[in-house]
Amino acid sequence: MSINSAEIICVGTELLMGHTLNTNSAFLARELVSLGISSYRQIVVGDNHERLAEQIKESASRADLVILTGGLGPTTDDITMGVAASVAGKELVFDEESFQNMSEYFRRLCRNMPKSNRKQAMLPEGATILKNNNGTAPGAIFEYACPSDQDPDRVVHFVLLPGPPSEMKLMFTEQARPVLEKMSDSKFVTKFVHLFGIGESDAAERISDLIDAQTNPTIAPYAAEGECMFRVTQRIGKDEEEKDLITPIIDVMKERFGQCIYEIGTRPLKQVAYDLLLEKNKTVSFAESCTAGMVSSEFVDIPGASQVFMGSVVSYGNKVKSNLLGVSDDVLDNLGAVSRECAQEMAEGARKLLGTDIAVSITGIAGPTGESAVKPVGLVYLALADEKGTEVKEVHLSGNRSRVRHVAVLHAFNMIRMRLLHE
Ligand code: ATP
Ligand code: MG
Repeated sequence: MSINSAEIICVGTELLMGHTLNTNSAFLARELVSLGISSYRQIVVGDNHERLAEQIKESASRADLVILTGGLGPTTDDITMGVAASVAGKELVFDEESFQNMSEYFRRLCRNMPKSNRKQAMLPEGATILKNNNGTAPGAIFEYACPSDQDPDRVVHFVLLPGPPSEMKLMFTEQARPVLEKMSDSKFVTKFVHLFGIGESDAAERISDLIDAQTNPTIAPYAAEGECMFRVTQRIGKDEEEKDLITPIIDVMKERFGQCIYEIGTRPLKQVAYDLLLEKNKTVSFAESCTAGMVSSEFVDIPGASQVFMGSVVSYGNKVKSNLLGVSDDVLDNLGAVSRECAQEMAEGARKLLGTDIAVSITGIAGPTGESAVKPVGLVYLALADEKGTEVKEVHLSGNRSRVRHVAVLHAFNMIRMRLLHE
């Protein structure tokens, strides 16, 4: 069945009060335009059960598609999933996979998952679940049988997305949009261009001429933690001839962004690093200080990691840096554990100890404590040692402890990528 009309409902008392600017509506409306779906209304409703249910029913009586954002969190004022499910006459059932994804999310941030988060794994029966790759709350797409006088078999689609824009945009683009594309009368061809080492606004500025001139294909930027992405989508009408309009755009991007582009497709950075290691037949190990195992843990998420990954040393304390990795007392006493020289000796020590072709080390100040006048929070040194020698990189990362650690992990993968690209 095809979807022609849509209404967007953004849920949240903070939006109604004017404390938060409703940017989700603007984003989704632009997406609907590029999907060829008419966006007829944008509505804001507070976190109120009755008014929300009333609004969902009203929108569903008019539109083929109702997109809701916000109110998917774990607290009692997060009611959207329950209310939309009850309007559609669906029970909420426990989804084990979503629960595991949330547990993994908290594990990655080194935090215990509060009991209240279990609620977010209660999802409508039969729904298509949308994984949250930037937070905890999963989204959902499900149907609501809503007969009208003209059409007794009328079905309305609900798409439920989280409120925080960074979570909502990624979930919509990667998961909801492809589902909606299939329901549209037009055909869509989409390519994702992933970049590392350049911020979203800087990247958008470099291709502002393309973005300003866009009609078809459309180009949309998205930011994730530490990296950014462009979606390039060409719409091909029912009776139109199919001609590739995407490649010329991507060619310009390649020219402007060079090696900041790590992927044209859907592979995450770690997968790109893994594929290069496999292709070049190299083994890798890590020596992790401030990331304390995160790089290794993320890396072994990739099935088949054992083909290239041998092991790591979590060298958080100086004793471990010196006893296991052979970092010299001179470096530790005079330059400190967060120094170019320490990173270098950690990588070289790990390479020797673990016998790998490549070893990458990470040492830095994740904060909020531990900084000094010359070594601020967010200062991270990474080193990569291989047969050709050792390369050290100094980066300055912004954000809180978990962000600094997460972005440091990305830098480690990127260092492997850059080294192997130049093999
Ligand atoms: P959480 O798990 O963070 O509670 P949620 O899905 O329940 O997520 P909300 O509680 O509704 O989402 O909103 C969380 C935050 O996301 C808001 O405080 C606000 O900063 C932002 N947000 C929500 N809706 C919008 C919107 N329509 N436009 C822009 N920002 C929004
Ligand atoms: Mg909430």
